[in-house]
Amino acid sequence: MGEAPDIIIVGAGLFGVCAAQALNDRGHRVFLLDQGSPPHPLASSTDISKIVRMEYGSDTFYMRLVEEAMAGFDVWNQSLSRPFYHESGVSMLSGRPFSEGGFEADSWALLLERGHTPERLSSSEIQKRFPALNPETYVDGFFHARGGWVESGALVAELFQQAIDSGVTFQVADVREIISENGRCLGVRCRNGSQIESDHTLLACGAWAASLLPELAPVIRSTGHPVFHLQPSDPDLFEADVFPVFTADIARTGWYGFPAHPSSGLVKIGRHGKGIPVDPRRGERRVLPEDERALRAFLRASIPSLAEAPIVETRRCLYADTFDADYWMDHHPRISGLSVATGGSGHGFKMAPVLGPLIADMVEQQPNDRLHRFRWRSMDETSPKREAARYDG
Ligand SMILES: Cc1cc2nc3c(=O)[nH]c(=O)nc-3n(C[C@H](O)[C@H](O)[C@H](O)COP(=O)(O)OP(=O)(O)OC[C@H]3O[C@@H](n4cnc5c(N)ncnc54)[C@H](O)[C@@H]3O)c2cc1C
Repeated sequence: MGEAPDIIIVGAGLFGVCAAQALNDRGHRVFLLDQGSPPHPLASSTDISKIVRMEYGSDTFYMRLVEEAMAGFDVWNQSLSRPFYHESGVSMLSGRPFSEGGFEADSWALLLERGHTPERLSSSEIQKRFPALNPETYVDGFFHARGGWVESGALVAELFQQAIDSGVTFQVADVREIISENGRCLGVRCRNGSQIESDHTLLACGAWAASLLPELAPVIRSTGHPVFHLQPSDPDLFEADVFPVFTADIARTGWYGFPAHPSSGLVKIGRHGKGIPVDPRRGERRVLPEDERALRAFLRASIPSLAEAPIVETRRCLYADTFDADYWMDHHPRISGLSVATGGSGHGFKMAPVLGPLIADMVEQQPNDRLHRFRWRSMDETSPKREAARYDG
């Protein structure tokens, strides 16, 4: 390799690829590393779909960030090789009438406050509009047309190729160590013994962050969450116009899902709950029988026509779970020339269009008031909390 690159980025998942493009666009020479070709099969960003929703309960900060990200998805749908964001709308369903403090009720109130136009749904309207759903289970809810899902793995592949075409250098490398001397990061050492030096190193390695920086282990945990891809017997019931992205009492159950995927016809259902601790390097990633039993029970109660559908594929996908569910983007407090961008905590993908500039501002230490919430922090200064839609069980 010629003269030292400006920046090494470890991890070519969504965070790393977006950062690479933005830093490259700002004139940095960027050297992107990943333990395999992106989208890596074990990466959190790799799947057929992720939800894009602006509903975050009463959290204005995240709703505003998603408003910006959605405008970015609109641009990408015109500028990329094809649309990757599908605006199916999102339906947020509740098994109880809305009550203040509840995820659906607070999201509804904030949407109206910010000038959005969601439609309130009674159980009879739910039955009429979404025939696959069991109306007896959901008595209240709303449909918000501004929202939907994005083809996550495919978008990472597209953005990665775009970054390479615009000058980013990529190499498959399994980074095993940060090289630092006298409080200065010099670069990284890889599993094959090679060393790569740089002016600056950005760790964008998702749930693997603590395995390279153990001091992050108390504040960013790697947790595994089940995902199921099911084959519906009646695909018409799961088309986006009658089965948009949904959350089903999500803060009380964790369940959410997607319309049938346009190419595979599969319906993806996931659970945004506590998850289980998983070591990203060697941990067990299988979905367990109890996960499937819970899924079947949920489907019997909520989506009867899917209750016995064959499961075509399962995945236990990892969250880089911060203690307060906020992302983690900042320079290392004691090692100069080293920064970290991770902490998606199960809700980072929808921010794709705004991630690059945000992370680049952090690396360059440009003023950006959003970054304060993602700064290097301890449990003493900010109390643990969970994201509004997250189920605690
Ligand atoms: C089950 C599940 C469902 C989700 N659903 C949603 C959703 O609906 N909406 C939403 O907004 N967000 C969702 N998310 C969150 C979202 O997927 C993540 O926040 C986002 O993808 C994180 O991207 P990342 O780049 O930080 O991590 P990753 O995509 O995991 O990328 C990290 C990369 O680093 C590489 N790497 C790691 N260690 C090393 C090393 N030592 N050397 C070299 N390379 C390394 C890995 O191979 C990987 O490619 C979900 C996540 C999961 C797990």
